[in-house]
Amino acid sequence: MAPLFDRVAIIGIGLIGSSLARVMRRDAPDTRIVACARRAETLAAVRRLGIADETTDDPVAAVAGADLVVLATPLSAYADLAAKIAPALKPGAIVTDVGSVKEAAIRDVVPTLPKTVHFVPGHPVAGTEHSGPDAGFAEMFADRWCILTPLPDTDPDAVAKVTALWQLARMKVVTMPPEHHDRVLAVTSHVPHLIAYTIVGTATALGDDLRSEVIAYSAGGFRDFTRIAASDPVMWRDIFLKNREAVLDVLQRFTEDLTALQRAIRRGEGDTLEDWFIRTRAIRRSVIEAKQA
Ligand code: NAP
Repeated sequence: MAPLFDRVAIIGIGLIGSSLARVMRRDAPDTRIVACARRAETLAAVRRLGIADETTDDPVAAVAGADLVVLATPLSAYADLAAKIAPALKPGAIVTDVGSVKEAAIRDVVPTLPKTVHFVPGHPVAGTEHSGPDAGFAEMFADRWCILTPLPDTDPDAVAKVTALWQLARMKVVTMPPEHHDRVLAVTSHVPHLIAYTIVGTATALGDDLRSEVIAYSAGGFRDFTRIAASDPVMWRDIFLKNREAVLDVLQRFTEDLTALQRAIRRGEGDTLEDWFIRTRAIRRSVIEAKQA
């Protein structure tokens, strides 16, 4: 069977880009993979891992002749990269991305791309708190959702090919409008990360004696937060700046709910607390039933 793509350029070959390269190595061995990153160490790691056929620090050279280009850098690099690669893209090429915010990705990429290429924005909702090509693994995507947010005029064949790519990674692929994606992810991922960053930062700001005890006796709750708060600082800076409206909106509601719980504690309203926790325990059960835990 002919490969889905003959030549794929992955711009940004860190956790997500390298995991996708591993999927293609595993399931599409005839696809030629070109990996692009800025730093020599990153490219050396990719060569050592054997997950690409070519490596380059030049995005323009990387996309030459590619029938699929995957943007897998932090979101803040998109606009510059799109402007740089635009003149070098093969007519008919598909450009996709893996960024965690979709309206901003579209805003940064679409205006500079030539009309002869197809942009299919995407977000594989899978990952870990680690970064870089050594941290990637092909199985990371299995049974997770991949959300594509095509525009009304996106070529359906291009969407079908990107869908097939993520299905190769064993993902469940859905499409939704970009603004809806950004709202959903603000609730399920972005604000929870902000809360983790906040609580871990608060603990770090405590006095020296208390801080060492927080680390020594770190029980499940705090330890889980430290894992989330170890996520890549640049990637998360970009997510909050690029999904500002949705994050601020969800954060507003969160603050109101937190204030309500604070009041219940102050007034000794045990029923309010218990009712709330019964509801949230049920949500945990639904998450496990949906196999997302
Ligand atoms: P990562 O491990 O830090 O990898 C980013 C890669 O991009 C690195 O190889 C980096 O290498 C390269 N890079 C950075 N700027 C570049 C530029 N201007 N030109 C070319 N290469 C550049 O990050 P990641 O976790 O894979 O995240 C990448 C994207 O996936 C982000 O947009 C993020 O929102 C999205 N995403 C992440 C997760 C997750 O859990 N981590 C999940 C889903 C989606 P050099 O520093 O050597 O250039």
